[in-house]
Amino acid sequence: MMILNNKELDLEINYFDKKNETLDREYLEKLQLTKLVKTVDQALKIEFYKKRLNGIGIKSGRDIKSFEDFKKIPFTSKDELRSSYPKGFLSVDMDDVIRLHTSSGTTGVPTVIYHTRNDIENWAFLTARCMMAAGATKKDIFQNMTGYGLFTGGLGMHYGAEKIGMTVIPAGSGNTKRQIQMMKDFKTTVVHATPSYMLHIYDIIVEEGINLSELSLKRAFLGAEPYGEQTRKKLEDLLKIDVYNSYGLSEMNGPGVSFECIYKNGMHTWEDFFILEIIDPVTGKVLEDGKQGEIVFTTLDREATPILRYRTKDLTHVYKGRCECGRVHRRISRITGRTDDMLIINGANVFPSQIEEVIMKYPEVGTNYQIFLTNKGALDKLTVKVEIYSKMFKGEISELDSLKKRIADHIKSAIIVNPTVELHEPGSLPVSEGKAKRVIDERSKL
Ligand code: AMP
Ligand code: ZN
Repeated sequence: MMILNNKELDLEINYFDKKNETLDREYLEKLQLTKLVKTVDQALKIEFYKKRLNGIGIKSGRDIKSFEDFKKIPFTSKDELRSSYPKGFLSVDMDDVIRLHTSSGTTGVPTVIYHTRNDIENWAFLTARCMMAAGATKKDIFQNMTGYGLFTGGLGMHYGAEKIGMTVIPAGSGNTKRQIQMMKDFKTTVVHATPSYMLHIYDIIVEEGINLSELSLKRAFLGAEPYGEQTRKKLEDLLKIDVYNSYGLSEMNGPGVSFECIYKNGMHTWEDFFILEIIDPVTGKVLEDGKQGEIVFTTLDREATPILRYRTKDLTHVYKGRCECGRVHRRISRITGRTDDMLIINGANVFPSQIEEVIMKYPEVGTNYQIFLTNKGALDKLTVKVEIYSKMFKGEISELDSLKKRIADHIKSAIIVNPTVELHEPGSLPVSEGKAKRVIDERSKL
């Protein structure tokens, strides 16, 4: 591991670990194969993988000699991780485990990820790489506004920020007025939050009559849920900050998997710690760079819970070509949706992100929205509820009608489904402090 070099912190393009972030592609692939041998050996200690790998003739990590051999390994699904709850995917002695995290478990039995001291150290190292790639330095005051607890956002970014040497305010999520007070008092320069919470924070800044000049905010690292370019732009314009996208999932530690650098042009995925594949979600075929598909990850350094070819259900594509920042690690585009969040509305396939992209283009539209689905007879009915700024309500009714119609027509041209658009006053739709629940599908209940 590279020791933090203060001289580098002053450069415009900062690297936490320049050597490994900029190494040669050929070398990186060799490194992946070497680490894979160890990972497979580690996985063989887990009954589930032992059975699975032995079944295809893999008895030791050394049986993986090439990426072709690697691709013979079947995918691991979330259900499989769940099926052996709580300890089925533990491959070290419990004495060597220093922490565990679980997924929220809202959709069933949670998945558990165990971490050894090295696992935690590597995770912190990766989130440090991420934040520094996005311009953070030890001079920054970092307010971490995501949940501390089983949710990985809080602790994951916390340790990375400390590694960089930032001043960390472990604020956690919620208590928005206090968050803003802390931003003022401690001159917070960088925040980490979900995009929906950041939108809410802006509303409260306005409500409290705070002038942006009273804050020192420069950057926000936003992730844990999907959001589009238009939402980024809106937040950057409203708050006069730079917003960087952060992607991760608890099965791969949490945050620290993929992150935008200062060029904001796709998220670098740390390929010396994870093997990144994009597959066709229907056929399972591995796709070439540029093609849209489902992300599949393999851990390369995990000791306590190694995971091979994990199907994330997240949809994206890999950018072709190298980034100007010099990092060799490939970039993925914004997550456009999940294979399990696609809505089928009157036969048309719709991702909630398509609707969000449209509504966030309207300056009249506020920071909160919801997508409602009901059925009317045999037909599905889509209602998009959006908050708009209060001054709009003081205007002419005809202006509101015209806005509604423009948004509805625009959504229709994007998704081919005719929505009903409802305009709501600011603060009237439910607020989210963590991952927002944007879609309410009541169709099956009718
Ligand atoms: P969890 O394991 O609870 O942390 O949830 C991970 C999931 O959150 C991912 O599989 C994605 O579906 C979603 N997610 C995380 N970061 C982002 C992001 N930047 N953009 C879109 N979705 C994200
Ligand atoms: Zn870059």
